[in-house]
Amino acid sequence: AIRLEHVSKWFGKLKVLQDVDLTVNRGEHIVLCGPSGSGKSTLIRCINRIEEVQEGRILVDGVELRGDGRNAEDIRRHVGMVFQQFNLFPHMTALENCMLAPRRIHRIGKDEARARAMGHLERVHLADHAQKYPAQLSGGQQQRVAIARALCMNPDILLFDEPTSALDPEMVKEVLDTMVELADAGITMICVTHEMGFARAVAHRVIFMDRGEILESAPPEEFFSAPRHERARTFLGQIL
Ligand code: ATP
Ligand code: MG
Repeated sequence: AIRLEHVSKWFGKLKVLQDVDLTVNRGEHIVLCGPSGSGKSTLIRCINRIEEVQEGRILVDGVELRGDGRNAEDIRRHVGMVFQQFNLFPHMTALENCMLAPRRIHRIGKDEARARAMGHLERVHLADHAQKYPAQLSGGQQQRVAIARALCMNPDILLFDEPTSALDPEMVKEVLDTMVELADAGITMICVTHEMGFARAVAHRVIFMDRGEILESAPPEEFFSAPRHERARTFLGQIL
């Protein structure tokens, strides 16, 4: 499980996370939504230790993320991240992108890394494209490579930050379908997205953030039909 306890974060004088409490249990699927600038990316970047928090604690399976960065590497072994911009290495094939981190960080051999990478590329239906470079793949395919690459680290949890918002509309579905398959397989995930169909299909809870605060946390059917806060109603009015 992942636990955030009284987490606050500032960028300079700007408080971007305000006393956030959140527990994500194994196998749980969370959709995180909220207006632009509300702190969604910052929150998941803190879980992955790309950002530091100034107050509160973050625990991954009971182990605290420390401010001194000593166990940041450790934590990243357990937390996979998929970004809006796929962040693939352009000079490496899909397969090589997937093999890199397990080789460097898990220190596994080439054959094992290749087998693992091919397994996950198959899982995202890209085995036939393993030898292509990112520039030879569509946006949707690149994002699915990025998902396979994250899976190759055998993460306990996957964090997605708007994985479909840089895609052309016709490619959104193939990426969402892949994410639904991963959810159905029981992978723990926190997903920042405004794809409310996805939220309805897989989320156990929808979390609504505004101005650095978690204002609502409810099952999708409840959040969509009866949001409790005015700001959540306004937000839903804008995106639905
Ligand atoms: P969006 O929906 O647009 O992606 P978001 O909810 O992900 O927004 P964040 O990116 O987490 O929002 O930003 C939260 C606040 O922190 C914003 O006011 C933003 O300007 C500020 N912020 C984010 N990153 C930095 C940074 N590196 N330095 C200073 N301020 C930052
Ligand atoms: Mg963001």
